[in-house]
Amino acid sequence: MAVGSSKTVHIISLGCAKNRVDSEVQLGLLRRAGYVHVADPTDAEVVVVNTCGFIEAARAESLDTVLEAADLKVTGRCKTLVVSGCMVQRYGSELSQELSEADKLIGTSNIQDLPRLLASDQRLMLEEGRSFLYDHTYERSPSLGSHTAYVKVSEGCDRTCAFCAVPGIRGRQRSRAPEDLVVEVRRLVANGVREVSLVAQDLTAYGRDLTPPRRLWQLLRELRKVPGITWIRLLYAYPTRVDDHLIRLLAEGLPLVPYLDVPVQHVDDGVLRLMRRGYDGALVRGLFDRLREAVPGVFLRTTLLVGHPGEDDTAFGRLERFVAEARPDHLGVFAYSPEESTPAYSLHAPPATVARRRRQRILEQQQAISAGRLRGMQGRELSVMVDGLSPETDLLAAGRHAGQAPEVDGLVHLADLDRVDPGRVVRAVVEQTSQYDLLARVVPGS
Ligand code: SF4
Repeated sequence: MAVGSSKTVHIISLGCAKNRVDSEVQLGLLRRAGYVHVADPTDAEVVVVNTCGFIEAARAESLDTVLEAADLKVTGRCKTLVVSGCMVQRYGSELSQELSEADKLIGTSNIQDLPRLLASDQRLMLEEGRSFLYDHTYERSPSLGSHTAYVKVSEGCDRTCAFCAVPGIRGRQRSRAPEDLVVEVRRLVANGVREVSLVAQDLTAYGRDLTPPRRLWQLLRELRKVPGITWIRLLYAYPTRVDDHLIRLLAEGLPLVPYLDVPVQHVDDGVLRLMRRGYDGALVRGLFDRLREAVPGVFLRTTLLVGHPGEDDTAFGRLERFVAEARPDHLGVFAYSPEESTPAYSLHAPPATVARRRRQRILEQQQAISAGRLRGMQGRELSVMVDGLSPETDLLAAGRHAGQAPEVDGLVHLADLDRVDPGRVVRAVVEQTSQYDLLARVVPGS
């Protein structure tokens, strides 16, 4: 369809995978309402910035992006700038007064109302203490690729981690019915999706709020029966809820990939207590050992939070030792940011400069671990799912092996691939390694 014949829209999605799902739902709703998606923001009459409000740095990035998007009213065709997402859910009233660049603001509570907001004179739509959760009747517009998609199994979080503002923003946990999730996954697969990554604030709490209660492993048993699904990946498992059922399922293999993202945050008992995480360092170490023993070749990702109240040099030293010993395959690390209305806000934390330095130390430590692990893969033959052309050169394709999640982990650059079909799985032999990526040659005829 020619640009200009209908209202054109472009969405900029910030933050996490869960926010990306919301952006895809928003775009699906707008398409149904007659809008045409354009890849180039300068062509869009409506520009939506779906923000993240999780920590200070994310909010700063969100605000910068909104201000840059506002320039599109001069440099592009933008008539309406919409700001949506977590930052609006959390600070909607202030933003509506102070952010004059935004023509419309809509919280995560009202995602389904975006077309109505655009058609009305209203500027702000927001309901506190409510969170929208889509189901299979919403047609999402894929943004990650035609072959891979996130599926949000629940919304909100019932935990009370001392540093985290998410429960206040997204509300209490609400899970989708397993039948609804199976229908969505079937439809995604029918549309060409081969890899599904399940996401939630607390994935392993899935189903506990349903009547009768369900468990994640029960859902997985249903999802892995969906014909045509190649990989199912689990992101955001809570350490205390990775039980034997789940580990057994992971060990049973494909389509469940040998991969688990378990954000442990810390291992020092004192810090974990102040974080109100409900476990100690021994549990974390034991979990890593159990997973590595029970699931052959498992890839483990974790997230750490440094600079939290209670983290003195000794506690930080324990964290460094854990990283050196557990050698996670992938690791993300945040510097603590005191968030209003969280229990940790009133506690004394190390200075921000210390937190930033500690974050850098862990990142450097992890770089060396990752490089060493990848060197150990030299010469190995792997199954690789093709994503598309390599972001570095058109001469290579790029994909991921089962131990690499989309967006957050590294890539396998592929030489000698005959056709670049996203979602196709080829066999390839690793020829070169770097800190996070591999270069592999495709096995002919694979
Ligand atoms: S589990 Fe804890 S850190 Fe994660 S979203 Fe819930 S409250 Fe926040």
